[in-house]
Amino acid sequence: MSGLIYECTHLCALVQVLACSVWHVIDFQHVGKDYPDGTQAVRDVDLHLEPGTCTVLVGSSGSGKTTLLRMINRLVDPTRGKVKVWDKDVAGLDPVKLRRDIGYVMQGSGLLPHRTVLQNVETVPLLRGESRTESRRRALLQLERVGLDAAAAARYPAQLSGGQQQRVGVARALAADPDILLMDEPFGAVDPLVRAELQRQLHELQLELKKTIVFVTHDMDEALALGDRVVVLRAGGEIVQDATPAELVAAPADDFVREFLGMDGGRRELHVQPGPAGDVVVDRYGRPLGLLGQSNLLGKNNLDASA
Ligand code: ADP
Ligand code: MG
Repeated sequence: MSGLIYECTHLCALVQVLACSVWHVIDFQHVGKDYPDGTQAVRDVDLHLEPGTCTVLVGSSGSGKTTLLRMINRLVDPTRGKVKVWDKDVAGLDPVKLRRDIGYVMQGSGLLPHRTVLQNVETVPLLRGESRTESRRRALLQLERVGLDAAAAARYPAQLSGGQQQRVGVARALAADPDILLMDEPFGAVDPLVRAELQRQLHELQLELKKTIVFVTHDMDEALALGDRVVVLRAGGEIVQDATPAELVAAPADDFVREFLGMDGGRRELHVQPGPAGDVVVDRYGRPLGLLGQSNLLGKNNLDASA
């Protein structure tokens, strides 16, 4: 009996240790970036991203979002500090291999115009050494995931709508089945209705695939809808606030965040209200959007369904 208690005690201790040590997939350690012309794009960013979560970097144009994102796959190297991916300093990793292992959806779809949609998507698995058959199978699967059929796969990018092109960009990033997905304003070039649909689809994909996503946008609504965590940046690449969407709405760090949230003009009119299970964030119509302090609310509650 005492042996059993001894075993249980040790097991509990082990579980506690595992639970306490949250592992970070991406670590920015006091990172800064000055471009050769003297522009300070990123000042001193210390950010640690957990696996399977979606972190949104939000800020106005020029606040260093793209620079920060591109430091993860070494499209940009920091001038100060260190970026670690999978616990390894990226400065010591082969940039080409790193980029093949990390999904990247860039600003604009970035598709090759003279290649069909299918060819665009199968490029990454082919580069990673998969056979043509396997690469094609994966490409078609990812295209189907984002709602594109075989007919769309046979077309050239220019023969698709803006929204469809963005979907292809997402499918291409997913084709190598990466653990990490970097998305730079991926839905920026489409109209609001298509954008809402693409956001909904990404949210569903994330529920299924549980990738570590770093998503860049200048749109606070998009940030609140998609992020488990929202990091607000201001000009000069400085973090103003790092919080869950509910925390951000309940307690904006300063006037800059408040203005960005659109709370000053009363546009958003989100507020916090006590509920039976804790504080609830509600919109201007009194619709509950989520529980305060819990990982993402707006997206997981599906705004569309409550509208
Ligand atoms: P965001 O994505 O938030 O719009 P960026 O990271 O693209 O911001 O840019 C941050 C700042 O760095 C801006 O002032 C931009 O003009 C500057 N910048 C970006 N890339 C370069 C570059 N290659 N050379 C010089 N300055 C740059
Ligand atoms: Mg940018």
